[in-house]
Amino acid sequence: MFGHDYFVEVAPEFIEDDFNLTGLSSIVPFFRDALDVILDLEPEVPIKPANVPLVEHAAELLYGLIHARYILTKPGLRSMGEKYEDNCFGSCPRYYCQGMHLLPIGRYDQPGIETVRLYCPNCNDIYLPSSSRYLNIDGAFFGTSFAGMFMKMFPEIQRQCDERTKKQFELKLFGFRLNERAPGGPRMKWLRQYPQSKEEIEECRKCEFAMPTEEDEDNTGTTGEAEDGRMDEDNEEEETTGARASAGESMMSIVKD
Ligand SMILES: [Zn+2]
Repeated sequence: MFGHDYFVEVAPEFIEDDFNLTGLSSIVPFFRDALDVILDLEPEVPIKPANVPLVEHAAELLYGLIHARYILTKPGLRSMGEKYEDNCFGSCPRYYCQGMHLLPIGRYDQPGIETVRLYCPNCNDIYLPSSSRYLNIDGAFFGTSFAGMFMKMFPEIQRQCDERTKKQFELKLFGFRLNERAPGGPRMKWLRQYPQSKEEIEECRKCEFAMPTEEDEDNTGTTGEAEDGRMDEDNEEEETTGARASAGESMMSIVKD
């Protein structure tokens, strides 16, 4: 099978335990035959030659789905940990992630929806595998819970991430940072930003899950005014950029460092 190096070997005891296969018989066709193929058992009734490719395909699917369950167990996580250490899944392409190792992840637990993706614990983003031979691996063979469970099992990965910079690359023009509102400026930069100071962490914690309260709504009145103030600034800035453009300078509004 192509891209088999992403997988760890599932312990036969795990497959033989019926409890671990709960619910899979309704997803995988030729379930019994497929299981016999995986466990290398002689089928009770010989498989019809016409069905052999179907059973083989079902066995691949079944093995993948068992694999997704196995890598959530302690021995499975440990085997995946060894692969992670050896950098079997590749490194993050982002420059500021400094070659952080990636983890295979599925965005869905149902097979047949999307192929495997790679998750970077440092920038929290997901990437496509660099080689096309991994593009026929179903994401459900790793599942949505694996990366989270892996990070819980190996807290030192979080420490590795904390050591890395959370900096983002910024375009500069003659030493000046490009304004976020400029045509070539960075967009939604805050999405990749992390709270730095204690106050910022506290603020982030408060606004992450909170629903707006009446008190907040009262405050929006004042922030509305503040926004108005900002709007005026915007207008001023547009005027100045207009002036700059007419002076034959760059169309981009720039901000001092
Ligand atoms: Zn990254």
